[in-house]
Amino acid sequence: MTETERLGPVDVLRGGKRLISFSCNDYLNLSQHPDVKAAAIAATEKFGTGSGASRLVTGNHPLFATLEAKLAKLKGTQSACVLGSGYLANSGIIPALVGKDDMICVDELSHACIYAGASLAQGAVHIFRHNDMDHLREILEGHRKGHPHALIVTDRVFSMDGDLAPVSVLADIADEHDAWLMTDDAHGIGVVGPSAGTVPLQMGTLSKAIGGYGGYLCASQAVIDLIRTRCRTFIYSTGLPPGVVAAAIAALDLIAADPEFAARPLAKAIAFTRLLDLKEAESPIVPIVIGDTERTMAAARMLEDEGFLVVPIRPPTVPEGTARLRITFTAAHDDADIERLADIIKTRILDTP
Ligand SMILES: *Cc1c(COP(=O)(O)O)cnc(C)c1O
Repeated sequence: MTETERLGPVDVLRGGKRLISFSCNDYLNLSQHPDVKAAAIAATEKFGTGSGASRLVTGNHPLFATLEAKLAKLKGTQSACVLGSGYLANSGIIPALVGKDDMICVDELSHACIYAGASLAQGAVHIFRHNDMDHLREILEGHRKGHPHALIVTDRVFSMDGDLAPVSVLADIADEHDAWLMTDDAHGIGVVGPSAGTVPLQMGTLSKAIGGYGGYLCASQAVIDLIRTRCRTFIYSTGLPPGVVAAAIAALDLIAADPEFAARPLAKAIAFTRLLDLKEAESPIVPIVIGDTERTMAAARMLEDEGFLVVPIRPPTVPEGTARLRITFTAAHDDADIERLADIIKTRILDTP
């Protein structure tokens, strides 16, 4: 684990070297935004650095209600609940909704914390092939009637591939089989427009495009009431610090005020995929799958020598034989830097045998 110091919206200091980072999930650079920082400082001055207890005890400071109302509005749900992190959200929400007699269907490329939640729920876990709706149907047809409840869970934007789940088909399948559907929008909130189809359970994180920290679930009032009384990672963990919650509120306000700004990371990712004739980007994440781990590591070192930070991703984070460069685009990336990166990748990685 290498120390990385952020020097601004896109630049980092790493191993004594200033690099342009294409490996950060702060898609809108909001962690560095003056308004967001000012909101965090003001809330810290007013309320202190910590919340002091679980929200159910005395940690529920007044900023939470404001943030939850904004999240519910953004996602079009009745209510919302903010938790400690995205990982804590999935590992607590899933076991709060389903138990040992129930079944859980998980897209194979879902995030590790979805698997953690599914395993804590102790129900029957069925993994369907990535975005393969026929496989999901087959699993539900074969097993649904043996379980009182079924939950389908998937990333909405896949974290290592940048592609999207077919949400409206998933919603139809969930309806057909009387199953709940939960999507994890960690990489979508703020930067990828809403999917068609109604999703009753929408979780995500405040730690990526929102620029801070924390997790959330947007759902009906009944589900949110259940989470607040049954979700162990909510009940038995301290509420987020006021400064963190205030920062998320300010970030959501900036996103709501300027849709053109929020669309920028995806637009830059699309421009990049066009330069390289890759499949058009659907999110700010673009993978360059190299396959061999050693070659991927060497490619990342070469890019670092050129002044770019592109962290190599290898198994077991991604399936065996699919080591890759995972490139993420942010609103503040300079178009000339993107063109230079594309050119180096084309001539020195993709076009070399
Ligand atoms: C990052 C991520 C999480 C975890 O969120 P944190 O707030 O960082 O704990 C959950 N799901 C997906 C898909 C992610 O990419």
